[in-house]
Order: sequence, then structure tokens, then C-alpha cells
Amino acid sequence: MQNKRIISAALTGNWGNKSNNPALPITPKEIAESAYEAVQAGAAVVHLHMRDEEGNPTMRADRFKETIALIKEKCDVIINMTSSGEHTLTSIASDDARVNPFYEVKPDMGSYDCGTMNWMHKTIFENSPQLLEKLGKAYLEIGVKPELEIFDGGMVYTTLYYLKQGILQKPLHYQFIMGAPGGLAATVDNLVYLKSLIPEDSTWSAAGLSVAHIPIMLATLGMGGHVRVGLEDNIYFEKGVLAKSNAQLVERANKIITAAGMQVATPDEAREILSLKKK
Ligand code: ZN
Repeated sequence: MQNKRIISAALTGNWGNKSNNPALPITPKEIAESAYEAVQAGAAVVHLHMRDEEGNPTMRADRFKETIALIKEKCDVIINMTSSGEHTLTSIASDDARVNPFYEVKPDMGSYDCGTMNWMHKTIFENSPQLLEKLGKAYLEIGVKPELEIFDGGMVYTTLYYLKQGILQKPLHYQFIMGAPGGLAATVDNLVYLKSLIPEDSTWSAAGLSVAHIPIMLATLGMGGHVRVGLEDNIYFEKGVLAKSNAQLVERANKIITAAGMQVATPDEAREILSLKKK
């Protein structure tokens, strides 16, 4: 398993819309189709955000359930559900609206953003101690593996605190999201620093936003990490050229992994690496 690399595809996110990139999947049907194509291209995990009928971010369980049912009709993949849907420039959903849908949807994994930060120099991405405690306990109760989303070094220390409290349990899985304005810059030095902070028996993955996408991917693969790609993080394929689909971004990661003499993990192999049970 040492040479296996998991590709996670972050398909939609909270922020973009079709005017930024017409390929961004918005409806349950579009997201499911995009997930299927991403899996065909090598993704073992899909990270899902939902939109309502108007295209606004939502944590509505019915939207997640409809989408996941459509995905499961077509392929086997690990479902990673966001807990930060409904984050807009003016508001973020209540703790209950972020936690309760997990009891209904019961995904394999759920995002766990380990601290509050200024987001894109525009708004506050609020992840209070109360939310982290409630969400962590819910994940334990339901059997959802937290994906510990890290935007700066202090957030890793927050995970160590909740590990001590028993609200997080080993083996931990980290996702370093680098280059978000308000968070740590996407440099290889910063990646080495973040990786140095996590418990040794953790698994980890990284995504560099924007121009740092490929450099962070290359460094991550060399350092033993897994990779995240997708239109949530990058609507461009290269400078000035919009990505045609999530699958196109997955396909490129697949080629890079293969060219580096590594193998792309299947969903079952990814379950083994992440210590997940098949649901
Ligand atoms: Zn997300």
C-alpha cells in the first residue's frame, strides 16, 4: 500500500457557479454524473457540497441523499460530505444545521475544519469550539471518519487537543488545504512544516489552490501523501484555461502518479489505507 495514492475529487464547493466555469456541477444529477466520471478517471473519494434549487450552498440532507443515491447506482466510491455547506459571504449555517444532516445521510467521511479563520479576506469561516465538539461527537456516534481540514499550523494543534479529549480518535486523516487567502500560503516549505506537526501514524492528503496546485501535488506525492483535486479548489486547468470537468483534473493527477512510479488507489484500497469500513 506504500505506493498507492488516493485521489480525492472535490467536485463543487461553496463558492463558484456556472458563470465562473460552466462545468461546475450544481444539481444532484450533475454532481452524481461528475462523481461517476471522476471515479472512472481514478478518484477513490468524492468530497461533496450541495446546492439548493437556486444554486446556493445548502446542508439539506435530502439533497445529499438524492445525490449519493444517484452516485451509488453507478459506481463504488468513498463519500466525503462537507460540514461547511451554507457558508456564504454574509453568513454560515447554525451548528445544528451543520451537524444534524450527518445523522440522516451517514456518509463514510465528513469534513472537520479545525478552527476559525478569515476567509478570502472577505468573511469569517467560523468553526467554534462548540461546533468542533458537537461535530466530533456526532462523527464518533454515527461512524463518520473526520477529514481534518487544515488551513494553518495552529489548526493541527487543535486536532491534537481534541484527540486528547477523545473527540477525535486515531488513526487521524488530515487534508491540508493550502493557498486559501487567510490561511497558510501554498509553499513546499509550509507543506513540510504541516506534515511535521501531525502524529506519525496519521494519513494525509493535500491540495494547493490556484497556481500552487501542481507544485503542491508533486511535493505531496514525494512526501508520501495523497492528493485532492477538483473544481472546488481550481476552476482552471492551467493559466487562463478553464478546466473542462472534474474528471479532467483527476485524470491529470492519475497520469502524474503513474508517471512517478506509484499507483492510484481503488476505493477498496483507499478504505484500507484510511481504516474505513465499507458501508
Ligand atoms: Zn469542501
